Amino acid sequence: MNALSQPRRPLAESSARRDAAHFINGEFTQGTTGKFYDNFCPVDGSRIGSVPEGGKAEIDAAVKAARAAMEGPWGQMTLNERAALLNKVAAEINRRFDEFLEAECLDTGKPMSLASHIDIPRGAANFTMFIDVAKTVSSECFPMDTPDGKGALNYGLRRPRGVIAVISPWNLPLLLMTWKVGPALALGNTVVVKPSEATPLTATLLGEVMNTCGVPKGVYNVVHGFGGNSAGEFLTQHPGVNGITFTGSTRSGEMLMREAARGVRPVSLELGGKNPGIVFADADMDKAIEGTMRSAFANCGQVCLGTERVYVQRPIFDEFVARLKAGAEGLKLGRPEDPTTGIGPLVSDTHRKKVLSYYAKAVEQGATVVTGGGIPDMPGDLAGGAWIQPTIWTGAADDAAIVTEEIFGPCCHIRPFDTEEEVIKLANGTPYGLAAAVWTENLSRAHRVASKLEVGICWVNSWFLRDLRTAFGGAKASGIGREGGVHSLEFYTEMTNVCVKL
Ligand code: NAD
Repeated sequence: MNALSQPRRPLAESSARRDAAHFINGEFTQGTTGKFYDNFCPVDGSRIGSVPEGGKAEIDAAVKAARAAMEGPWGQMTLNERAALLNKVAAEINRRFDEFLEAECLDTGKPMSLASHIDIPRGAANFTMFIDVAKTVSSECFPMDTPDGKGALNYGLRRPRGVIAVISPWNLPLLLMTWKVGPALALGNTVVVKPSEATPLTATLLGEVMNTCGVPKGVYNVVHGFGGNSAGEFLTQHPGVNGITFTGSTRSGEMLMREAARGVRPVSLELGGKNPGIVFADADMDKAIEGTMRSAFANCGQVCLGTERVYVQRPIFDEFVARLKAGAEGLKLGRPEDPTTGIGPLVSDTHRKKVLSYYAKAVEQGATVVTGGGIPDMPGDLAGGAWIQPTIWTGAADDAAIVTEEIFGPCCHIRPFDTEEEVIKLANGTPYGLAAAVWTENLSRAHRVASKLEVGICWVNSWFLRDLRTAFGGAKASGIGREGGVHSLEFYTEMTNVCVKL
């Protein structure tokens, strides 16, 4: 794996700058719709290449290829054979690390120092981890009494669910896509992936890896396109799909669930959030500042688990705001390949418009802008990118848009609180329930507060510390279901109870 400090070539020269293609039944194709759109790099607005927009025919071909692979060589493979192939896939991602890194950073603009730490290594680890799960998981067994005294034995048998539709977002494209593809394949399913329209490159590259490693054709398919009335919706509507796993916004999740109702197909939904950070007066201030800096600004704030609401106990409120402000103002906006870059651009100009609309609303609704609030002056070609200032507000009402709605940008609102009861109520006061970060040195308080927060993931004195064996998912409007470790069995396998009369 690559050292973070090594000099990297400018993305302008990257060979990852190329047209995307669908990957269907082991072959790259531009499809038959004749529709293409341009893929732009958010760093400078330059054109990366074209992307074909898939239609019903491409989705149908991909689902049929996935079905044929299930019924053919893939379905007949032993677990050990499957595991050997997927271990090769992980190794090949690591061997082509720089290509994946450049492709991901071209599409998203994120710093290479971040993507080389998180996105690409996790893309590989998502395969190896779920092979371990598939190999080590046990099944339940219930011996039962019967009136004749001889008894019966019940045991659970898990089968792959079938053809899985994977629909993924743009913020961590390879990581979040393989977070679904890894368990799906390790547990014997086949997949049709619809990556985000904004980030088509790494999903395409993974097709090359699958072929190099000898993964049978049809096991991994990719169809590019948009959501509604495009490849995404056509995929969810296809009757040959046995389950739909989705990461994206709550609004899209609701639409997708309606489609899944046809044929009663199961869904796994990892949706939006409006995550609170809670800093008690007894917190280790250095740790709380370092963690909140990351949770608010990492990946330019485009992390579903990120903190957009920070509640700070009154005695340390002023100091916390001043230190977070200094931290935000110290972040260097820069090119992905520059190792000193602290923050990249947003993913697109379209997304910047959305985030800026919240920056404007904050002022209209009476918030105080502590720092940021607009578009920075960027030199030279960077002026064409989707850059935005890291922003901190105070003083907004609890029902203001910036406090209740997901913005998905490098920003947070900080509000003082007095008591534990008060802050728990505030933290639980949105329809979302994805994650929370609690900062305190009081052990009893940490456990007490964590148990009362209506979230799927609660960090204490940390943020984004992930053990892939643990349950991952959101409460309330942040999702349905949990994935990770053995929890992924629930969605990616179907259980049959076998009852044997002895
Ligand atoms: P999005 O919902 O706009 O799009 C996500 C994917 O769904 C894209 O591939 C898109 O083309 C597709 N899509 C959209 N509408 C569709 C439809 N009607 N039918 C089928 N497919 C459709 O989300 P986004 O803007 O790409 O990503 C940002 C959102 O994702 C944020 O809300 C963020 O919180 C959420 N997210 C959640 C998690 C999590 O684990 N809970 C992780 C990352 C991102």
